[in-house]
Amino acid sequence: EAKTAGRNAVRFFDPAMQAILVVRMLMESNLRAALANNQFQLHYQVQVNADGKLIGAEALLRWKHSDRGFISPADFIPVAEETGLILPIGKWVLETACVQLKKWEADPDTADLTLAVNVSAKQFQQHDFVDTLCDMVSRHQINPTRLKLELTESTILDNVDATTEKMHLLRKIGIAFSMDDFGTGYSSLAYLQRLPLNQLKIDQSFVRDLSEDENNATIVRAIISLGVNLGLNVIAEGVETKAQRAFLIAHNCYAFQGYLFSRPLPQEGFLAMIKEPPSNDA
Ligand code: C2E
Ligand code: MG
Ligand code: MG
Ligand code: MG
Repeated sequence: EAKTAGRNAVRFFDPAMQAILVVRMLMESNLRAALANNQFQLHYQVQVNADGKLIGAEALLRWKHSDRGFISPADFIPVAEETGLILPIGKWVLETACVQLKKWEADPDTADLTLAVNVSAKQFQQHDFVDTLCDMVSRHQINPTRLKLELTESTILDNVDATTEKMHLLRKIGIAFSMDDFGTGYSSLAYLQRLPLNQLKIDQSFVRDLSEDENNATIVRAIISLGVNLGLNVIAEGVETKAQRAFLIAHNCYAFQGYLFSRPLPQEGFLAMIKEPPSNDA
């Protein structure tokens, strides 16, 4: 290794680089152990429409580490993607989401909810992704129209022909698609028009400074009218204040998700919250 790597091998003796590699290796073996020991959970964050009606939820992965408590996906998804561990983890996420949807179907309070699941690029690009998901849907006997996949712009556009074909196949059985973190990538209008999407999800960075930052307000208005003109529903993530919600409603945003309504909650907490009588102050 050192011989063939030649001059580049020097970087392995850089202590800072070595520390990073050690941390990654530890993370990788911890992630493997987490999978084997059932340390992953899905939390659920509500999505509401402009009338405040509950329309669905997003499933967000949590790693319950024995010593360190909950670890955010932002900290481990990148390593999971680099090491390929995202494939078994992503399968676990979809399988768990199907089990959850099946339970929701049996309860009138949750039967109409859609469940949005994040799918990473590497996972969606697997040649057997469509077959695997169709198989899950039929094994769990869920209604596929309740399932929505969130893909980012780069996932879709890195391999646009293959991705679009898979999206069409899954749309045929009723699965919906949302483009996550919209506005942070590089979608061209030409692509957007051709993609079989149902929803655009405005990235939370634009929502955050909506009231103070005139540029973000302009971007958000533009995204909403773009979505509306393309026949897509538009959802905003990271809605934390009533002022943000009011702005979004005034500009015809269709749905909302954020701490203003609820944080992501474990399934029992999620169920308890939606069964509470609605309060009028949100
Ligand atoms: P995302 O899909 O864009 O999810 C939204 C993130 O914003 C979540 O962070 C959520 O907890 C957070 N959030 C929701 N409302 C608010 C708010 O009002 N204010 C603020 N500041 N944040 C809010 P989380 O759960 O840490 O997830 C981070 C990212 O990790 C997700 O971003 C998604 O890209 C990825 N991720 C989460 N679960 C999965 C999964 O099952 N599979 C894959 N491949 N990626 C996942
Ligand atoms: Mg998402
Ligand atoms: Mg997002
Ligand atoms: Mg995000």
